[in-house]
Amino acid sequence: MDRRVIPAAAVAAREDVGPAKPSRVSRREFGSCVAAAAAGWLMTACGPRRLHELSKDRLRARLRDLEREYSERYAAPVTVTDTPAMPNVLFAYALDISRCVGCRRCVYACVDENNQSRDPQVHWIRVLQMDKDRGVDFTHADPYYAPREVPEEGHFYVPVACQQCRNAPCTKVCPTGATWTEPDGIVVIDYDWCIGCRYCMAACPYGARHFNWSEPSIPRGQLNAKTHVLGNRPRPKGVVEKCTFCIQRTRDGRYPACVEACPVGARKFGNLLDPDSEIRYIIEHKRVLVLKEDINTVPKFFYFYAT
Ligand code: SF4
Ligand code: SF4
Repeated sequence: MDRRVIPAAAVAAREDVGPAKPSRVSRREFGSCVAAAAAGWLMTACGPRRLHELSKDRLRARLRDLEREYSERYAAPVTVTDTPAMPNVLFAYALDISRCVGCRRCVYACVDENNQSRDPQVHWIRVLQMDKDRGVDFTHADPYYAPREVPEEGHFYVPVACQQCRNAPCTKVCPTGATWTEPDGIVVIDYDWCIGCRYCMAACPYGARHFNWSEPSIPRGQLNAKTHVLGNRPRPKGVVEKCTFCIQRTRDGRYPACVEACPVGARKFGNLLDPDSEIRYIIEHKRVLVLKEDINTVPKFFYFYAT
């Protein structure tokens, strides 16, 4: 089997978007498309500015408002920063499939770090269990595996989150311009501008975006109070969210939480533009693959086999 290309049937293993089927657009669906486009146009033409368009003073005021709101709600001093991208940095990720044991510690470290809802649960990382006999085969991948112990005999594991695509289909379909790629390669969402139309979720081939159907809930005392305005700040109901490479950490020179939590060192992170970085070494010396290479999304999330 060609291990560099993940079959298109991977779509079937996604939580949020089912396999693509030819379908007719009902009058109601058509109406909601028109409404979303109109709302996008109205917000763009008449509304307040997106975060990256605000003057410095207005941005500072918005951040202070958010800090006040969250500090009151969670009864703790919350900071909301807008730390910008560093020059000469393009972030990338690599995951060693031969090491991952499927323990899901990365999933729960991500939940804690990024203030994902506990009830209903939102997980930005999904770990897929696959059969060794079949190889990388998303048609038979199981995201709900629950053996007594991991790794389970005869299986291996492929964690999947946002692939931070260079050619990201999700950013192209947003009617309000609420999602874009930052200079350091992180694809972000402005939660104030997301109207919840979920076009980006339909466009994402990896099921990496998640919608807040209900008011997200984080118990007091469990909030990570160090937040970034485009990352882990608490989200409202009705917006889309996803992995941001832990923007609140990585722009401060720290590793993403999942890298630190992984007990077997399967997760690697770094600057693609640094020729001496570990990530560059992996890409240049190991057997590397990207998911769905054939659809030209050009992920900055690489999978590799160290052994
Ligand atoms: S994985 Fe999905 S959400 Fe992430 S950048 Fe690619 S298309 Fe967008
Ligand atoms: S923490 Fe590491 S070993 Fe455990 S599931 Fe995540 S990547 Fe795999």
